[in-house]
Amino acid sequence: MIEKQLIRCVRCNALALFSSVDRSPEYRWEQGKWKVLERDDQAQFLQAHRGHELEKLRIVKDSFISRQNYLEPVGTSYFEAISGEQCVVVKRSRETILAPQRYELIPGRLRLTPGELRIDGSAIQKAFEREFSCLQLPPDKVNRFVQQLEETVSRLNPEELKRVPFESHNPSLWYFYLDGGVVDRVLEKSMEFLNKREVSGVDEFLRKNLEEPLFMAVAEIDFQIESSQEHKKTEFQDP
Ligand SMILES: [Zn+2]
Repeated sequence: MIEKQLIRCVRCNALALFSSVDRSPEYRWEQGKWKVLERDDQAQFLQAHRGHELEKLRIVKDSFISRQNYLEPVGTSYFEAISGEQCVVVKRSRETILAPQRYELIPGRLRLTPGELRIDGSAIQKAFEREFSCLQLPPDKVNRFVQQLEETVSRLNPEELKRVPFESHNPSLWYFYLDGGVVDRVLEKSMEFLNKREVSGVDEFLRKNLEEPLFMAVAEIDFQIESSQEHKKTEFQDP
């Protein structure tokens, strides 16, 4: 893991995120050959702010949010940091691949709100068709059951579910585990069209696989910056 430090020049209110990769050279393809560019962003920043008071900010773990993929080199992202006693939002953006990262400090907090939960109905349908033969569970019943599951999941409150502790490539997507309570609810509603034997088969299959990625629910995260200075919310749109 790359160790990172967020440094602010108090006089200029300029920010820099130092990491162990700052000093790695950059390779650029120019006129038919690779050119090695020695770079040291850290030294550049320290040189520009020599003699100024520098402050070290603490980055709040797991507060990173962006509408882009983690691997996307260009774009805007936000995270929280602690400056003295105050919580601030750091806006990080880069306009082109060759441009340096720009940081902006906004006094306030990030409010992350998960939107409606979804599951991958068509993948679940295929898994059911593989698991159950036509006699065990006819295709029209599989279909109705998956619809019921999708509908039930879309009405769940993400706050009541356990979040899956892995990071996806897309920081604006959060994954959640469905639990036994959800299974009970869906099966109860499915009793209209499933007989007892079918209910117990489906019940067993679901409980055995609840932690599999197939049954994870996903929600898109909406975020707002709650500014602590003017006590108002500022919504950010993608640039
Ligand atoms: Zn400075």
